[in-house]
Amino acid sequence: MRNTGFLIVLSGFSGSGKGTIMKELLERYPDEYALSISATTRAPREGEEDGREYFFKTREEFREMIRNDELLEYAQYVDNYYGTPKSYVNEQLANQKNVVLEIEIQGALKIREQFPDALLLFVTPPSAGVLKDRLTGRGTETEDVIHSRLARAVDEADGCEVYDYLIINDDLDTCVEEIHQIILGEQKKMRHQLSTIEAIKNELKQFVKGEKV
Ligand code: ADP
Ligand code: 5GP
Repeated sequence: MRNTGFLIVLSGFSGSGKGTIMKELLERYPDEYALSISATTRAPREGEEDGREYFFKTREEFREMIRNDELLEYAQYVDNYYGTPKSYVNEQLANQKNVVLEIEIQGALKIREQFPDALLLFVTPPSAGVLKDRLTGRGTETEDVIHSRLARAVDEADGCEVYDYLIINDDLDTCVEEIHQIILGEQKKMRHQLSTIEAIKNELKQFVKGEKV
């Protein structure tokens, strides 16, 4: 057993399905995962609520959070700022939850520096055509913004070698299960299990010394 949870970064092109995947993962495994809610200066989309999808901030409020060192990382994406509030992540990790950060690539790099054990997952639809269709089909952005997001995706495609896994979001159900299995596999790595082995070793010593029968 580790005494803290795992930090998982989920990134991917805009429209690749990160939000949809996270919603499904939390519905299936509510006790295992906690989703960090970011702060952003972007305007809420229809149906989004402050404190549920994001903490919606003015630029001044966002700058204040930076000044007060309240963010684990932050980055500019297209025309807005996005950042991860520190307190929730630290609290959930201490409660042994697996905390998922749904953030873009610059933020992911900053997390890797601070948490070398963080697991970095990158999601993509099966093709560029599907990405464009999903982004358009979502109907939440203007054509201009969609264009900027596709342009940003071209840059992101160059940076994704730092990620540990590439996940194809074709069939949603398969994709969510794959992600869950990858996380379970990560937790089983020996370097994350050393305290379990240590506990067994200590008990074995007691048997050997006759202190325990
Ligand atoms: P992101 O959070 O990465 O920007 P979303 O989760 O908003 O992406 O997904 C973009 C659009 O694609 C949404 O309309 C969503 O319903 C749809 N979508 C997501 N995953 C799939 C999938 N596996 N198959 C079909 N449509 C999907
Ligand atoms: P959207 O406007 O579509 O909700 O998000 C735009 C991009 O910002 C996505 O790639 C999303 O993953 C990223 N993002 C959301 N929150 C954060 C955050 O706290 N930090 C960083 N670095 N990126 C974020």
